Amino acid sequence: MNVPFVDLSAIHKPLAGEFAAVFQRVLERSTFVLGPEVQEFESAFAAYLGVDHCVTTNNGTTALQLVLAALGIGPGDEVITVTNTFIATAEAISAVGAKPVFVDVDPVSYNMDPVLAEKAITPRTRALLPVHLYGQCADLDALADIARRRNLHLVEDACQAHGSEYKGRKAGTMGVAGCFSFYPGKNLGALGEGGAVSTSDAALAQKMRMLRDHGSLRKYEHAIPGYNFRLEGMQGGFLRVKLPHLDGWNEQRREVAALYSSKLKDSGIVAPKEMPYGKHIYHLYVVQVDNRDSVQRDLGANGVATGLHYPVPLHLQQAYKDLGYREGDFPVSEKLARRILSLPIYPGLSTDAAEYVVSKLLECAQCRMAAVAAR
Ligand SMILES: *Cc1c(COP(=O)(O)O)cnc(C)c1O
Repeated sequence: MNVPFVDLSAIHKPLAGEFAAVFQRVLERSTFVLGPEVQEFESAFAAYLGVDHCVTTNNGTTALQLVLAALGIGPGDEVITVTNTFIATAEAISAVGAKPVFVDVDPVSYNMDPVLAEKAITPRTRALLPVHLYGQCADLDALADIARRRNLHLVEDACQAHGSEYKGRKAGTMGVAGCFSFYPGKNLGALGEGGAVSTSDAALAQKMRMLRDHGSLRKYEHAIPGYNFRLEGMQGGFLRVKLPHLDGWNEQRREVAALYSSKLKDSGIVAPKEMPYGKHIYHLYVVQVDNRDSVQRDLGANGVATGLHYPVPLHLQQAYKDLGYREGDFPVSEKLARRILSLPIYPGLSTDAAEYVVSKLLECAQCRMAAVAAR
């Protein structure tokens, strides 16, 4: 059997007619950039999350950059984030001229360790930027408490956490702002690039609307130098079509995850743990396994595509070598980078396919352990 790592065709096929209608509408109205399709999606997504404002952008990286810029964070400032994330989180900090300060993560949730985050605060720190990695929230009460006591902004990187919950509240609604990516493979994806910032701070939302459109709220009147971070009208329409399906798709991911986790019990392979405070929406299903590279190769030979999220922590990336970090600085993230393996997970992945994936994983892992023991 061949199981791809992601397959978007199953969720898109039934919506093809609605997508075609969006195309026709935008073509007739010529509202190719921002416009009513984008506004309708912004209102719907804000209502879904339970916030007052949603400001869309052209991708998740610029959503992060937009909120940091709107908060006035720039050169001389520091922003604390995690080292085990996609590089975009740190790039957004660099893009506004601030310095990313990395911290290690909790070994169970794989998310920002609040104790380590507080230790990393200096007089230059302006914000905490936790990532809700793989679709599970970081410990937001603890982080919000630090932010309040130390007078810092809490900005959530919810680019993998559309619909994820923390104590019944949606990811992206507990800090001053939350950032989302609508890259096609995300739990809510555009048919191209897209992003958004959620906030209930009206002044911040207004500032972001200006900044994303050349510092302008009225054509050719520019209050401040800004950016072009606008979302295309077509993508706003496509996202509006897909949004009502998000919860159902997340539920399908949770079913696949439950099947994987039940079969991995007592196997020696570490399954992801859903924290008692939240609802995991499994953007990725990531296990920890010994002899990871060989297991990944074996699975590939059996037709099971897997991924690594992420093989090199940011503090060891060439791009950030000037920050002066070394191997050994963040042992939890470094150990995870050697052991993690992401299994196929997406809405529409059949029970048969999921059972095949997990049985091959168990087989390959056992075979590798035996091989190591025999040496
Ligand atoms: C996808 C992602 C981003 C960036 O989103 P793009 O839309 O690809 O720019 C940022 N942070 C995390 C954690 C992501 O997974």
